[in-house]
Amino acid sequence: MIDPFGRKITYLRVSVTDRCDFRCTYCMAEDMTFLPKQELLTLEELDRLCSAFVAKGVRRLRITGGEPLVRRNVISLFHGLGRHLATGALDELTLTTNGSQLARYAKDLKQAGVRRINVSLDTLDPDKFAQVTRWGRLGQVLDGIEAALAEGLKVKINTVALRGVNEDEIADMLAWAHGRGMDMSLIETMPMGDSGTDRLAHYLPLSLVRASLSRRFTLGDSAYVTGGPSRYVNVAETGGRLGFITPLTHNFCDSCNRVRLTCTGTLFMCLGQEDSAELRPILRATQDDTALAQAIDAAIARKPRGHDFVIDRRQSGPSIARHMSVTGG
Ligand code: SAM
Ligand code: SF4
Repeated sequence: MIDPFGRKITYLRVSVTDRCDFRCTYCMAEDMTFLPKQELLTLEELDRLCSAFVAKGVRRLRITGGEPLVRRNVISLFHGLGRHLATGALDELTLTTNGSQLARYAKDLKQAGVRRINVSLDTLDPDKFAQVTRWGRLGQVLDGIEAALAEGLKVKINTVALRGVNEDEIADMLAWAHGRGMDMSLIETMPMGDSGTDRLAHYLPLSLVRASLSRRFTLGDSAYVTGGPSRYVNVAETGGRLGFITPLTHNFCDSCNRVRLTCTGTLFMCLGQEDSAELRPILRATQDDTALAQAIDAAIARKPRGHDFVIDRRQSGPSIARHMSVTGG
C-alpha cells in the first residue's frame, strides 16, 4: 500500500476497546461515556480485518485502546494474530498498555508471539499516579512491568510530559527506566477529546524537557528508528535510548507509515484529521475479503499529507473531537 505522497503503509494500530480501567486526566473525563457494546467489532471481526491489512502489506500491528487488556478474551486475538508472525507475513505484533493487567497476561502475550510492549507511565510517585490516572494504582503497574521483564519482553516506557505534574521527575524516571533495561519515550499532550481538564495548563513542550535533561545527561542524536513517530537520542550516562514524540512542535508526518483502526471498524488515515472510512459495514456484508481489500485501497488513496494540531492559546478545548482512547494512541 502506497499513499498519494509515496509513503509505504506498513503499520496498523488497532484499538480493540474504548474502555479503560483508568481515567487519565489528559485522556478522558471521569464520567466518560463509552460506546454501546454492540457497536464494537467482535474479536473474530478484528482478526479478519487485521488479517486483511496483513494481506495488503502491513508488517507491524500494534494493539491498543482504551486499555486493550481489559477487553474480555483479548488474548485469543493475540494468539490468532500470532499466526501471521509464524508465516513471516508479519514482522511484529505489539501492544500499548497502561500495565494494570500485565502481571496476569505477560506470559500469554509472550506465548502469542509478542516481544516488545509499550507501557504508559507518567510518574513513579504513588500519589501523583493516583491523581493523573484517577483510578489507577502505581504498585499494580510496577508489578505488571516486572512480570513483563521477567518473561523477557522488551518494555518501553511512554511518559506524557505534564507541566507542574511530572516535569521535575522526568530525569529520575529516565534513570530508573534505563537502569532496568527499558527504553523511554516522552510524549507531548495532544488536544484530543474532551478530558474535563484544561490541557493547556499542563502542556509542556519537549524542547524544554530536552534542554533540562541535557543539564544532567549527555544526549547524542541517534539514527535509531522503530517505524514509530519517536525521534531518538542516546543517553551517554545510561547507555539507553530516549525518544521524543512531538506532534505539536515537530512535524513527523513526512515519514508516516501508519493508519489507525478503531474498535468499531472505522479506519483513520491520520491521527490528526477527521477523514475516515467505515469498514464494518463491508466486513459484515460479505465473507469475501475482495470488497474489504478494495475499501482499504480507496481509503489509503485518501491519506492526507499531515495533521494540523494546535493547542489554541485562547481556547483550550480539543482541536480533534474524538478521544485518543477511541482511535488508539
Ligand atoms: N490504555 C493504554 C495506555 O495508556 O497505554 C493504551 C491507550 S492510550 C490512549 C495510548 C497512549 O496515548 C498512552 O501512552 C497515553 O499516555 C497517550 N495519550 C492519551 N491521551 C493523550 C493526549 N491527549 N495527548 C498525548 N498522549 C495521550
Ligand atoms: Fe486509559 Fe490509556 Fe487513556 Fe489512561 S491513557 S485513560 S490508561 S486509555
